[in-house]
Parts: sequence; structure tokens; C-alpha cells
Amino acid sequence: MKAKYKRKKEMIILPPPLLRKIIRVQSLAQKKGLFLNDRELLHCRHCGLLEDVKYTGLLITYKAGDDVSDTGLRFEQDKEGGYICPFCGSRVEKERRVRAD
Ligand SMILES: [Zn+2]
Repeated sequence: MKAKYKRKKEMIILPPPLLRKIIRVQSLAQKKGLFLNDRELLHCRHCGLLEDVKYTGLLITYKAGDDVSDTGLRFEQDKEGGYICPFCGSRVEKERRVRAD
């Protein structure tokens, strides 16, 4: 690792040009609706809306007990870093779930 990538308290593992490309690819993937696995999947315990990831990597939501078919609704992040259910407006907690296929 070249010394120019070192900082006082941390060492950057990836060279900055590669890091910028990775960030760009992540941004493009997110715009296409792919789940980046950068947080837990969400589940609203109030109305049953939950997130899942299809085998294609696409993030979807559906109501618990219904067929796994994307509602097109997406949880919105609030100012405090929590998430708001797009169906009922409740604040939801993060939860780890198994992927649907
Ligand atoms: Zn809800």
C-alpha cells in the first residue's frame, strides 16, 4: 500500500479512484431498485408490510400473508434515521429476514 493513501488514524484499504467507482456503481444500483444490503430489511408490525429481496436483487414490498408480489411501495427514511411505512405511516424497526425466491 502506498503511503499517500494513509491517514493519521486509519488506513484506506481501497485506492480512492476505485472507491469512487464503487460508490458510483452502488448509486446506480440503488436507482435501479436493487437492495444494496447496507441495512436490515424492514417489516411494519402495524400493517404487515414488509421488504424482501428477489433472487434478481430487486427490493420489493408486500403484505404479510399475501402473495409475494411487489406493491411498489417503499419505506422512507425519516430525519432521525428511522423508517416510515408507506402504507400506514407507522415508524418501523429494522429486522433481518430470509430472502424470497
Ligand atoms: Zn405499516
